Amino acid sequence: MGEAPFGPLLEDPEEMRRSGYEVVDAIVERWTHLRDGPAWRGATRDHLEPLLHGPAPEEGRDLDDLLDTISKDVMPFAGRIDHPRFLAFIPSSPTWASVLASFLIAGHNVFQGTWLESSGPSQIEVTVLDWFREWLGYPEGGSGVLTSGGSAANLLAIVAAREAAGNLERGTIYLSEQAHGSVARAARVAGIHPERTRLVEADDVCRIVPDSLRAAIRRDRAAGMHPFLVVGSAGTTNTGAIDPLAELADIAREEELWYHVDAAYGGFAVLDPEVGPLMAGLEHSDSVTLDPHKWFFQPYETGCLMVRDPVLLERAFRIAPDYLQDAEWGPRHVNFCDRGVQLTRIFRALRVWLSVQRYGLGAHRAAISRAIALASGAEARIRELGELELLAPQSLGIVCFRYRGGGGVPDEELDDLNRRIQDEIVNSGFAMMSSTQLQGRLSLRFCILNVRTTADDLARTLDRIVSVGRRLAGRG
Ligand SMILES: *Cc1c(COP(=O)(O)O)cnc(C)c1O
Repeated sequence: MGEAPFGPLLEDPEEMRRSGYEVVDAIVERWTHLRDGPAWRGATRDHLEPLLHGPAPEEGRDLDDLLDTISKDVMPFAGRIDHPRFLAFIPSSPTWASVLASFLIAGHNVFQGTWLESSGPSQIEVTVLDWFREWLGYPEGGSGVLTSGGSAANLLAIVAAREAAGNLERGTIYLSEQAHGSVARAARVAGIHPERTRLVEADDVCRIVPDSLRAAIRRDRAAGMHPFLVVGSAGTTNTGAIDPLAELADIAREEELWYHVDAAYGGFAVLDPEVGPLMAGLEHSDSVTLDPHKWFFQPYETGCLMVRDPVLLERAFRIAPDYLQDAEWGPRHVNFCDRGVQLTRIFRALRVWLSVQRYGLGAHRAAISRAIALASGAEARIRELGELELLAPQSLGIVCFRYRGGGGVPDEELDDLNRRIQDEIVNSGFAMMSSTQLQGRLSLRFCILNVRTTADDLARTLDRIVSVGRRLAGRG
């Protein structure tokens, strides 16, 4: 007897096609009816374990049954990040081309650690990074590496800065109290003691105060510390505030510090002709974190660290073991494993490349500008409604506000009231929103990013906040 044509882990080509089309249909169906379902749904383990927990089966099961389980019992219990009224945290709405690219990447299973194993894909990454370089206004030669996300990019930046500074024993770093939590975590991972991670105060619109930064650096130098890194934010996660990037660049230059800008949320807004100029100074940084999986419409785990001088990045991360000696193609042929902590890497750049090639950069820029305009429209409506109160000026796609009522609700009850409004709206599935703290007050917060979100979605969500607020405050 000859060998069976397909081992148990290989499927017949016809079956691959059939089940593949089925998965495509399921995804297209989901995208077509996103608006009809809830923006968020969650469940406890008590609910989920009876449905999903059990031993690994010894024998394989029917694929259609399994796909059914996934679509009925797994996927519904999750935030629908790309729902038009998912306005919480920082949403994401990947393009179809980028999703197709993800499937292609998985199906080809490219190993993108070295040029030897992935010349074509590595060239695409070089090209995509060069697009980013140009958009940021970095000089020729600037480049970077695609990462799993902004947190990973911030970690790479801190380590690159630390290595460039000579691995100082008393090295201190400076970031705004409004900086994303991943920066402080990256510092901890990089071995920078929390006592040497300085949180610099932010002003009443959440921008770092340059004078306080200067004072902190001088104080530390006088005390024998070694300042080596300042981190700015180009779009804080909290309110979208853009730090005074040019002033930070001046300070970094005068003080001879590495200047990193965390632009994970807002960086791609440089493409907007009006907001772009507000980011002047970004081009003087040594490194920038970008998150294409946020405001550049890519699927999750598409992040990026850009650096002015990739040699410094490679100096921080390159290890040349004997078993990779065949992988040296010379300096023009990047081994992306030398620019971070991942050896085995997926081909993320294909998503961005296919998306930009398919729809054009103009369509991406227009989608960013549109989100900013929607946020500005939401701010105008909040002012109009009277019963709502802005807690920070709208910046980029973020609007922070709360229900205040007609004046009859005591101040000390507003936090609790807004929390209850949020809970009710989130649990109803109508919209997903998150809250934050601003000047000691609970703030509701919209982050508008999705290409599907309309002015009507925002107006209806605001109206609902007012009507729920009135009822809970006992006024209607
Ligand atoms: C989201 C975000 C991060 C973290 O990025 P991940 O992709 O979630 O790891 C870092 N900084 C800022 C400003 C962010 O908004």
